[in-house]
Parts: sequence; structure tokens; C-alpha cells
Amino acid sequence: MSRSPEAIQSRLEWGWQASRKHLFRKTNAFERVLTLLAEAEFPLTWTQICEATTIKKQFDPATIFRILEKLERTNIVQRMVFRERSSYYYLAIPGERHTYLICLSCGKILHLDQGFPLTEVDREVEEKTGFADVLHQLQFYGTCQHCQAAPPIPVSQDTLEALPEATD
Ligand SMILES: [Zn+2]
Repeated sequence: MSRSPEAIQSRLEWGWQASRKHLFRKTNAFERVLTLLAEAEFPLTWTQICEATTIKKQFDPATIFRILEKLERTNIVQRMVFRERSSYYYLAIPGERHTYLICLSCGKILHLDQGFPLTEVDREVEEKTGFADVLHQLQFYGTCQHCQAAPPIPVSQDTLEALPEATD
């Protein structure tokens, strides 16, 4: 299952509009990072973004990291931390569901959508507090069915790769 071209387009447009407000320079690297995030079904790690065919060997991983950092600082992207070692990035589009269930054994990520009407909670928070553009960040952790049946797979080096130091 992947996102429809229309969905990707509208997510991308949201990203452009949000980044225009923060005077992002529309560099090739920036455009490709934003496109990857718009296309992604699940949050992506910095390594996964750097390894994408549209990025790999064309842009310095440190450049990609700075773009992600700036996107996070301006709330265009949210970062979710897994086991305090690796970060996953996703577009923080209001009204989209950002609730995930993550397997602690293999790192598999699932959307937690049906039966968990958390976007309604966002609206309720807005009504009660007067805040606008409320979104939540919530992750559930557990052991997936596959991992329950199989001996635990060590989390790949990829997933555990440390992020570079923040620079400005
Ligand atoms: Zn698993």
C-alpha cells in the first residue's frame, strides 16, 4: 500500500507552503527531502533518506541532516525517537494521524488508525485550550506477531546509527 499521486501532491504542497513561511531556500536537496517525506508511508530515518536513490551520492549526509533539523525546528517535520538512538522523521501535517505502533524487536512500524480516534482528541484540545493547529505525538511499543514467533532479531546497525552532532 502506498500513497496516491494526489495525496503525495497535496502533502508536498503543504510542505512547500509551510516552508515558504520560514523562508527556506528551495535547493535541490531540500526539494528532494521534502518529496521523499511527502511520498513516505511511514516515518523515515536520516539514513533511509540519505540512502534514497534521489539523494544518495548526490548530497552530503550532513546537508540532509541540516535540512531535517531545520524542518523539525520549524515544526514542518516531527521527529520520533526510537530507543533513544535513532530518529524517524515525518511531515507534521495537521489532521493526519501520527500514531504509531513500533515493534521493539525488529523496529517495524505500523499506523494505529482504526478504532483510535485521536484526531478527535486534537480537535477537543483545540476547543478547550484555544490553541490552533494542535497535533499529538504518541507512540506505542510492543513485540510484533512475527517477533513473538521467532527468536529476537537484533536491531540492524542501520537503525541504531547515531546521528551527527547538531550544527547551525
Ligand atoms: Zn517485530
